[in-house]
Amino acid sequence: MLDHLAYEEPAPKVIAGAKQDWELVIGLEVHAQVASKAKLFSGASTEFGAEPNSNVAFVDAAMPGMLPVINEYCVAQAVRTGLGLKARINLMSAFDRKNYFYPDLPQGYQISQLYHPIVGEGEVIVDMGPGIARRVRIERIHLEQDAGKSIHDMDPTMSFVDLNRTGVALMEIVSRPDIRGPEEAAAYVGKLRQILRYLGTCDGNMQNGNLRADVNVSICTPGAYEEFRATGDHSVLGTRCEIKNMNSMRFIQQAIEYEARRQIAIVEDGGTVVQETRLYDPDRGETRSMRSKEEAHDYRYFPCPDLLPLEIEQAWVDAIAASLPELPDARKARFVKDFGMTEYDAGVLTAEAENAAFFEAVAAGRDGKQAANWVINELFGRLNKQGLGVADSPVSAAQLGGVLDLLAANTISGKIAKDLFEILWTEGGDPAEIVEARGMKQVTDTGAIEAAVDEIIAANPAQVEKARQNPKLAGWFVGQVLKATGGKANPAAVNEIVARKLGG
Ligand code: ADP
Ligand code: MG
Repeated sequence: MLDHLAYEEPAPKVIAGAKQDWELVIGLEVHAQVASKAKLFSGASTEFGAEPNSNVAFVDAAMPGMLPVINEYCVAQAVRTGLGLKARINLMSAFDRKNYFYPDLPQGYQISQLYHPIVGEGEVIVDMGPGIARRVRIERIHLEQDAGKSIHDMDPTMSFVDLNRTGVALMEIVSRPDIRGPEEAAAYVGKLRQILRYLGTCDGNMQNGNLRADVNVSICTPGAYEEFRATGDHSVLGTRCEIKNMNSMRFIQQAIEYEARRQIAIVEDGGTVVQETRLYDPDRGETRSMRSKEEAHDYRYFPCPDLLPLEIEQAWVDAIAASLPELPDARKARFVKDFGMTEYDAGVLTAEAENAAFFEAVAAGRDGKQAANWVINELFGRLNKQGLGVADSPVSAAQLGGVLDLLAANTISGKIAKDLFEILWTEGGDPAEIVEARGMKQVTDTGAIEAAVDEIIAANPAQVEKARQNPKLAGWFVGQVLKATGGKANPAAVNEIVARKLGG
């Protein structure tokens, strides 16, 4: 099946240093909060914004003797995500303890999957413009617990801890270092977010920290990356730095740009980049060191003794696969093919599943290109201006479809259709009834149009003389007639009658 339109890969971003050109190599570790009402190992609620420490089960608070119990729904969500990224699903996976001390981590360890993740290799096609896309390989997805939250800015002398987030299920989605520029990195996060939202496995609300990324950046000389791809040898690439916890597409781009230039300056100065974890400071527009590899924690990973290895059945995976929705790439390709629209328009219409569904409801049994035009330009244009989503649209798909039907039947002109849309937007109602009740029907009755043309010709003898010398001036009469009839006269009929009368 044609899943994505034919595409070419974009050129990598090249940054000119003082001495030579450099290319970027980027790999992302995205933490996506699993859309689930309950936590990964407890029945406590995951509701965002609840009163601090109100959604905490005994096991989340690490009370002695409490044991984790795996939430089957979270596992299904991870499998669903893997299938959506065309990834290998591992029927046997296992949980490990990642040990570290932090006040918002009462257990003293995070339960994660280091050695046997539930999802293996997959891919994301990152669109960079019509006909241009990058295939980014996914290395793995594993399930793990989120930590709680320390709050340092509520009191001058004390810190507080909120455990509501403790134990919420996260999927860590690890990409290969296949991303070649800041824009691509942002587009990758955007595409991943879009797919997760289509799948319903993560809300992707970046402001709430629902989706956040650790960004690994290195620089290399042109050609080195191709060698890495041909041989799989990581050592031909530069040393990477990891920028932690990014939750804004704009900051991801700025941080990469800054980090690449920082590394270039070091290397061109004869120095070496040290592998370390850095933080981006958006106020200063720079990254700064958080900890170096030497200071990195020794997590003393070991298999979690409280949880059995996770075995799932192929039949269960198959049932999840059978329930997957049509995903963005497939839907976009289908829109281009079935409705004859541009890849750009198809991209706009498929950005969110609910937008695509709205469009399809408008287009069903109608002219797809015209439907696309109206949905994108009139409806989305208006919604965007008012900061509304399709779900809050004052004009429903049925109402917009009604406008298109009236246009198709030549009952109203294009200009009147826009007026009608305005009425539907502000007052609501049934399009056909409004047109009937307010006398908005297009005048196709040639007798009425002829009368209007005669009137204008009679009132403007000088213009008639000029137009007879120069037929191009007939347009002025057409305009006058359309104006006189309040835009209701059928333009084709007016054109024809004006030409005939002036000619005669
Ligand atoms: P580790 O085993 O140290 O965690 P991984 O090989 O798993 O390292 O990589 C972690 C992340 O860093 C991945 O997203 C990967 O794509 C990325 N990465 C690895 N090497 C590089 C590099 N040279 N430049 C940029 N990113 C890299
Ligand atoms: Mg790793």
